[in-house]
Amino acid sequence: MDIRKILKQIKNLNNRYVYIIYVVVVTTICLFAAQFAPGGRFRNWYYDLINKPNINKEIEYAVEDRDGQEMNQGAFLTYYRYETFGATNPEEVDENVPMVALTFDDGPNPDYTGRILEVLKANYSRATFFVVGPNAEKYPDTLKAISAAGCEIGNHTYNHKNLTNLSEEEIEEQVDKVNRAVKKATGEDTTVIRPPYGAYNNQVLGQLMEPVILWDLDTEDWKSRNAQTIVEHVLDTVKDGDIILMHDIYDSTAEAIEILIPRLKEQGYQIVSVSELARYKGKELELNKAYGEIEGPVKDE
Ligand code: ZN
Repeated sequence: MDIRKILKQIKNLNNRYVYIIYVVVVTTICLFAAQFAPGGRFRNWYYDLINKPNINKEIEYAVEDRDGQEMNQGAFLTYYRYETFGATNPEEVDENVPMVALTFDDGPNPDYTGRILEVLKANYSRATFFVVGPNAEKYPDTLKAISAAGCEIGNHTYNHKNLTNLSEEEIEEQVDKVNRAVKKATGEDTTVIRPPYGAYNNQVLGQLMEPVILWDLDTEDWKSRNAQTIVEHVLDTVKDGDIILMHDIYDSTAEAIEILIPRLKEQGYQIVSVSELARYKGKELELNKAYGEIEGPVKDE
């Protein structure tokens, strides 16, 4: 068709129709561009818009997961996110959505670690477990279960001593003995290390052969031993990129996790291991450095 003829026809159209067509076309182009813009802000806004009315409401979602089980709310929101964002599976992490790393020290413990793993699995989430020597040797099956759940095992030293008071040889022994127990149970090495009490100096930092992971949100679960207090403290202070400190050796911590993980998922947080947090935030964990939180690259606002 001749372009001049088309232009002539448009000229002859009622101005109002031309205006409406113009607005529709321009809006469509803008929305399309926003959807695929770096950072996906439109996607995030759309996700919030759809999910906010559901947050903190006890709604039964009649959605079945892969095993035919009815999903709880947290799992549903993960499922919803993967449906909406077109991810290929609900475990997939979206780097544009807030995420936190839950970490559990001083275990493993067959009862409490087991309960925590169940909640993580039901919510397509993972965590990092910093284990100590005697428990690692005593409960190899729990170490295997952690690994099978896709979670990460970190080194918390054999006897939970302050490393700044030890000689080089003693530090090496404290680290190696835990690694041997983990390797024996799972066939894998530990990937990260957390010095007991978060105590380190330059000498310790220089000697440790795995990235040192501290925390920036201390639940003080050992102090309160109260599930509700732990849950409230986390929900009041949590933010994107946090590394959250807990201990999988208390009944109250396992109970807190059963409440907390679905609540965090309702608030839109993805729950990942420390190494995943670093990876999805685009940070490479380096030796001779200690990490308290992991923030993503600064986004243009
Ligand atoms: Zn500890």
